[in-house]
Amino acid sequence: MKRSLQSTLLLLLFIVVLLLAPVLLPEFYVTLLNYIGLYAIVALGLVMLTGVGGLTSFGQAAFVGLGAYTSAYLTTVHGVSPWLTLPAGLLVTGVVALSLGLVTLRLSGHFLPLGTIAWGMSLYYLFGNLDALGGHTGMSGIPPLQFVELELKSGREFFYLIWAVLLVLVLGTRNLLDSREGRAIRALKGGSVMAEAMGVNTPRSKIVVFTLAALYASTSGWLYAHLQRFVNPTPFSLTQGIEYLFMAVVGGVSHVWGAILGAGLITVLKQWLQDWLPRLLGQSGNFEIIVFGLLMIVVLHRARDGVWPMIQRFFPQRLICARVDGVRPLTRRPLPEAGSVLLEVKDASKRFGGLLANDRVSFGVRAGEVMALIGPNGAGKSTMFNGISGVDPLTSGSVSFRGEPIEGLPAREIARRGMSRTFQHVRLLPSMSVIENVAIGAHLRGRRGFVAAACRADRAEESRLLHEAAVQIERCGLPEQMYEAAGSLPLGKQRIVEIARALAADPCLLLLDEPAAGLRYLEKQALADLLRRLRAEGMGILLVEHDMDFVMGLADRVLVMEFGQKLAAGRPEEIQRNPAVIEAYLGGVE
Ligand code: ADP
Ligand code: MG
Repeated sequence: MKRSLQSTLLLLLFIVVLLLAPVLLPEFYVTLLNYIGLYAIVALGLVMLTGVGGLTSFGQAAFVGLGAYTSAYLTTVHGVSPWLTLPAGLLVTGVVALSLGLVTLRLSGHFLPLGTIAWGMSLYYLFGNLDALGGHTGMSGIPPLQFVELELKSGREFFYLIWAVLLVLVLGTRNLLDSREGRAIRALKGGSVMAEAMGVNTPRSKIVVFTLAALYASTSGWLYAHLQRFVNPTPFSLTQGIEYLFMAVVGGVSHVWGAILGAGLITVLKQWLQDWLPRLLGQSGNFEIIVFGLLMIVVLHRARDGVWPMIQRFFPQRLICARVDGVRPLTRRPLPEAGSVLLEVKDASKRFGGLLANDRVSFGVRAGEVMALIGPNGAGKSTMFNGISGVDPLTSGSVSFRGEPIEGLPAREIARRGMSRTFQHVRLLPSMSVIENVAIGAHLRGRRGFVAAACRADRAEESRLLHEAAVQIERCGLPEQMYEAAGSLPLGKQRIVEIARALAADPCLLLLDEPAAGLRYLEKQALADLLRRLRAEGMGILLVEHDMDFVMGLADRVLVMEFGQKLAAGRPEEIQRNPAVIEAYLGGVE
């Protein structure tokens, strides 16, 4: 049976089970399932934010509170219809999340989670201290939701609403992650350097995913307020924020269905522990917290990806495939005329504290030529690449690309102008397939955004992007590895994947940092052939490489660097005869 059909059948089965659940189950279980649904909505946001995007937040409970309190306040004090308070809550949460995100997401490393703890606590105390919100006593008398004549007063009726919302969000999130913008979010986890070099506006992606996760939380809060019809600050505390994170981690941080699983496991376990631990221990207390702590340690040691991947094996896997026929290839940018100057670097210097890693280096690259940059380790070659491509800007000097000054521009802007690069230390997303990694390179060649992705309106463009990725992978000689996880390839092949990714950007200048390292003889020859073909098409190539046979057989011109300075420049024959180069670079051996 086809995988997609199997998936659809399983989804239908899940929906049937959901439809029957409130009819067949006793009240207690329906209530439990309602809470699992509410928690799963928040955990789903965290799957996207923390699991996929790599941004840890302890503060989601505060956003749940914003959704709940906005509705509680507007309905009880101002008599606003509960259906209107959902968009109102989303608006309030959106504004708060945007402001907090703009401040917090600049923080890196452990400062980001600490920042989320700080505002998570602030909002919690705000709920408790505002008299208009009923202080610590909270607000009661929240009206029930009403569908025409039907008031959703019982848990059984509410069940359908909660799970319908959850299901829509799960499917929308899944679609989103499997799209151009989704890949950009996934690329965040590999650090923003690679993503930016591929044209992703990483601050924007971070803000969007952070705000989305907050809006999910707010939706859960709105549902909660009208299910409970009473709110007080307790469920929006930092402790609850930690529990949400816990659910996402236990379920499976990077899997949408893991959110439901995690919320289910933690909620049921908590209920069970609260019932049994005091009986076993003969005294009352919050012992479940201790068990949770221990459980977290076990999960982090034994199942970092959570429980979902263990269950997932029994389900058909979704495979991101490129369609072969009937796809209109992406339009290509016209290449500059062969021989015209593409890149001009003048007096480029880069200082790291007391070290001058690049010292007033000047050179140029033309369209349709391979320029090699060689020199001993530490000569400053990679630093020069980073300076040119905007990854780590120069201290002084000027760089112009296709006639425009580009120094000081962010890497993504330089990428947009047609420069693409690979990294000496490979920067792939190891768990993602080769084709998805390469498709990140084509980011700037697509337009469709988050909303289109979530409702699958981006499929035509998406198949063009994947088609482009597939074409580049085949061109680079890796068709067999197309659907393998990038991290499972040998390092030499991973470098080739980086080249395919750079080519997917449709560059006119390609910067390759040690592309042949780790390749075998035949693979090096294939790479040289590929670079010759690209050169013949009119692409400019700037190449850093240590294998002298490779360089001398391929390059049109060679620039030799030593201690950050330009030592010599010229055609390969000239360089090979240059006494200073032989002395300094080859140590006089050859
Ligand atoms: P190459 O690529 O030619 O081997 P690099 O450009 O990587 O050399 O490094 C040039 C010099 O700059 C080295 O001495 C290296 O230690 C130093 N360097 C590179 N990056 C940094 C950095 N981010 N901070 C401080 N020093 C650096
Ligand atoms: Mg280097």
